[in-house]
Order: sequence, then C-alpha cells, then structure tokens
Amino acid sequence: MISATLATSSDDLRAERDAVDVGTVESPDTSPSVSDSERGDKPRRGRSTSHLKLVPDTLDLRDAIREAADRYATQLDKSRPFNKAALEMHSRTLLDQISQPECYLGFAMVLIGNAFWKQQFLAIPFERRLLLLPHCLKHADGCPAEYDEFGLDCEKCGACSIADYKVRAEQLGYKVLVAEGSPVVLKIIVSGHVDGILGVACLNVLEKAIDKVLLAGVPSYAVPLHSGDCKNTKLDESWVWHCLDKYVPLVEPKTSGYVPLMRASNEMFEAQLDEILPLTRQGGSAGDSLLAETESIARNWMLKGGKRLRPFITLAANDAVTGASGLQSTSAGSLPQFSLEVRRTAMAMEAFHKASLVHDDIQDNDPYRYGKETLHRQYGIGAAINVGDYLIGMGYRLISQGRRELGAEAASDILDRLANAHLKLCEGQGAELRWTGADAVKLTSLDAIKLYALKTSPAFEAALYAGLRMAGPMDAYEAMVPTFCRHIGVGFQILNDLLDWEEIAPNKLVAGRDAELAKPTLLLALALDTAKGAVREELVGLINDPLTALDRTERLKSLYHKLGVFERAGTLVDKCRSRAEAVADEVQPEALRQLLYFLIDTVLDHSPAAPTPSSQTPFPGLLPILGNTVGAM
Ligand code: SF4
Repeated sequence: MISATLATSSDDLRAERDAVDVGTVESPDTSPSVSDSERGDKPRRGRSTSHLKLVPDTLDLRDAIREAADRYATQLDKSRPFNKAALEMHSRTLLDQISQPECYLGFAMVLIGNAFWKQQFLAIPFERRLLLLPHCLKHADGCPAEYDEFGLDCEKCGACSIADYKVRAEQLGYKVLVAEGSPVVLKIIVSGHVDGILGVACLNVLEKAIDKVLLAGVPSYAVPLHSGDCKNTKLDESWVWHCLDKYVPLVEPKTSGYVPLMRASNEMFEAQLDEILPLTRQGGSAGDSLLAETESIARNWMLKGGKRLRPFITLAANDAVTGASGLQSTSAGSLPQFSLEVRRTAMAMEAFHKASLVHDDIQDNDPYRYGKETLHRQYGIGAAINVGDYLIGMGYRLISQGRRELGAEAASDILDRLANAHLKLCEGQGAELRWTGADAVKLTSLDAIKLYALKTSPAFEAALYAGLRMAGPMDAYEAMVPTFCRHIGVGFQILNDLLDWEEIAPNKLVAGRDAELAKPTLLLALALDTAKGAVREELVGLINDPLTALDRTERLKSLYHKLGVFERAGTLVDKCRSRAEAVADEVQPEALRQLLYFLIDTVLDHSPAAPTPSSQTPFPGLLPILGNTVGAM
C-alpha cells in the first residue's frame, strides 16, 4: 500500500479544493489518540503501527489481559457493531485500567473484539462456522501439502497442529480454510454459507481484517499468533480449543449488522435472477441463437465480479427509512424481504454500473476486469459496445417495469436521477479522454476533482436516491444525497488512484495502469501543481516522452514520492471522509445515519488490496460485496 501520511498543501490548492467543497488540507494531528466519541471515529491514515502490535511474552499476562477484556466488554453496548477507531479507544482505556503499556494495543483490540462477539459466535451452529487457519503454522521444513487457489491443502500428516484443528473442526461440521486475509472470508460470509469465523492469525493480518469483519457485524473469535514472522509460528492452543467445540445458545439479543442486507443483494444475482431479470429470448434455431446472444452476454456480465455495492446501497437505504428490519436478521435462512420493484430498481443500479465498465475498458483498452479478460477482448470492440448499450436499456427497463407499483411520480424521479447520472458520467468520461495523453499536462487539481465528481459520485447518488425515493418523498434528503455522494465519490476515486500504484492493482492485474496511459489523475495534477523548474520539466517530459510504459511508470512513481503526492492524496481522502461524516451527522433517522457511516467506512476503506481471485471460490455460489478491492466496485 502506498504510504499516506499526513501533509500540508499550498494555499492555492486549498482555495481550489474549497471551491469544489472537497475541503482544505490542514496541519495534521498525528497523535495516535482517538476522540471520545464511541461511534463513527475517524481513522488516522499512514501511522506505523508495528510498535503497537506486540504479544505479551508470558501466558499468565496474556490470560490476564484476556480476562480483563472479558470484564470490560460486559459494559459495552452490543446493539450494533463498532468500528476500528472505537475498538482502539476501548483498548487504550483497558490498557490504562490494568496498567499495561501501549505496545499491547493490537493484542488488546483483538481481545476486546473477541469479548464483544464471543457469545454470539458460540451461538452459531458448528456447520455455520468457518475455521480460518494461517499456513505459517505448518511445519516449515517437512510439510508435504501443496497450495491451491484456496490456500494450503493440508494432507494431515500430523507434523503440526493444523491437522488437529482441521480434523476436529470438520468432524463438527465447520468449513475449514488454511489461508490468509479478509477478502475471501467476507465473500464466504456474504454468500450465506457461514455466519461466523474462528480465526487464527498474526496481529498484522488481524489488523487488516478488523475493519471489514467488525464493520459488517460478523461474529468472530480471533486467536493471535505470538509473532508475525511467518514461519513455525506459535499460539495459545487452549484458546482455540476453548471455542472450537463449544456451542452455547444465545439469550441476549443479537448485534445488528449489514450482512443480511449484503446477502439480500447477493441473492438477487443468484437465486432470484430469473425472477428479477428473466430471459426474454431463447436460443433455438441458429438465427434465434444469434438474436439471443447479446442478452446472454449482458446477463452473464451482470453476474461477474465486483462488490455489488450499488444495489446494496439501494436496498439498505430503502430499509433504513422503512423500519430498518433488515439489520436484525443474521441467519441465512431469513433474509430481509424486498418487493420485486425494489429489487428490480436495485439491480438496475448494477446494470448501469456494468455498462459503464464495459465502455470504460474499451476506451482505456484495459486487458483485464475482475481478473479475467475484458469483454471487448473476449468478443471484440463492436460487440462489447453493443452489450454496454444493451445493459443501459436493461437498466431503464428494470425500473420502468415497476412504475405501477412504485407510482408514476417516484418512478419518473428515479429515472430522472439516473438520466442525470448517466449524462454526468459521460461528461466526466469525455473530459478524461480529452485530457489523456499529451494534454494531461494542462490538468489542475481542481479539474481532476471536478472530473472525479462527475465520473464517480452520480452513480452512488442514483443508488442512494432510488432507495430513499421508493420509500416516499425526498424533501428531507434532496440536498443531502448529492453532497454526501460527492464526498465519498471523490474520495473513492482518489483511493482508486492510490491503489493503481499497488504492486498488483486490484481487479486489473496491471500496476500503474493510469500512469502508463498518462490519464488525468489527481496524483498527476498534484504533481503538476507542485513541481517547479527542472522537476516540472522532467514531469512534462515523462508524459510526452515515448518511453516504455514500465519506464514511465517507474519514473513517475519516483517523482510522486519526491513531490509528496501520495501523502497529499491520502490527506484529501481523509478530508472527503470528514466532510461526508459531517453530512451524515445531520441525517435522521438514526438507521440512515448509521448506513451513511457504514458507506463511508466501506467506500473509503484504504486497507491494502489483494489480487482478485479467480471466479472459483472455496464454496459454491460465492459472490463478493465487501472484498478488499476498491477498484472492483
Ligand atoms: S499437518 Fe498439514 S499443514 Fe501441518 S505439516 Fe502436515 S500437511 Fe503440512
């Protein structure tokens, strides 16, 4: 992950950003302390946390902190999940109370999380649990197991404890994975195959997983490894056994969370697809097959990859203003129920999004999407353009089909918002194409931010608007929706820029692709704003120079570091987050305010990305919503 520590910017840039309401960049508060507010605290970016992730040397001390965490958690409000910043605050308080040093902060965070979720985890039937083990537990020199796409395929030779856990867990009915990381875990949760996780991992891995798992409200119990050195690691085995074969029905109410709504969104594209989006043409004769081909490709493309964030937003927004009953169910068997017209409208959001991706991939000549060849590489440019157009028509039809149930006024309001989103996206895309290549040197930060606001925010806006509008008039939300979505849309796009510099960019399998194409990114604009004299000449030369793509990318990266571009972009993401939070704080009802916070944390998640796995997944029927790939949204 590109480092994104805080920095100050020039007055000029500050004025420009104010003009588009993205916010100024102020002197940072790099203090590790968090605010007193229990919920919705703002994570600080870019701090090195290695000194906060020590595990106590003795079992006595580890047990003492665990017991203290259990006592501490009895006073916590368990009605809904907390985020990472709130967990950090509680953990600091705990360490203060038991006079232990800050170096155990990460350890204490895991234990408070465990204490919060333990009863709810133990109430999950064994066959609905996932046991996640790290491959570094294996016997480093003699392990005969091979890796496959799902992790280590343990042969149960008995040389390490993996086999013991795996055998017992499988006897009980657990799903077992010997793998690392939260993306695959969340996919499994969202797919509806398991409801909770018993995980063993080092504090580094747990730190990355905490945000997603906690935020989504997944009952989990984590056992930290004693070190993070990835070889022959050790753990307190009794802590695993303490939970592994224990089942205790729950007496207290469950913590609400967004997993049921994620699953409801997921189900639309799986079990409910034929109901919501029935085939209109059937193959038969050769001629019929040709006529049916475009619909078939478009429908299949709808099912491919991505997090299905937009349909989730529509369903969750609708739920938030109609009683928020969707947050209560945590059983895969009792998903939140939505009428057909609400589900059609939610699916329409994905149709428009998928159409824009097809056209975007053609315009950028991107080779990969969701870890596979892009549509135009598979079928040719003409056919892909046509499929994109078809998806747009499909999206409008999905909404117009429900006009009677939605009411003519609501349906036309939603269509109007979508038409606006479509026009803005095209304007933004047109500007990006115009600025790509040699003209990119004319780009200013203000241009880049305006462009991002056009390209990214309207799709979030349409999804949020549609969910709310289907529940009633929009008087209370008319101004809030575009403002909120502008902040998260711009922040999301900047984050996407940062992720483009990952070693392996999520979802595309090509690093520095935007730089390679000399696209008008905010990073480039920040560099152009800052660079003076010979450095600017070098920068402009790089954009115009027919260097190999790799050379240009490497030299741009070096210049960006020199000019502090990554840090400043990270600061802007924080600023977008703050502005979005300020908007959310004014919103009623509380369920909608909570949803907006959840969206902020989800869309502006800056955890390191993992490569998108192949379409194969450990258990059948998995579909990602909240993986770790911002770019795939
Ligand atoms: S028990 Fe499994 S993971 Fe452990 S050394 Fe043997 S084959 Fe490898």
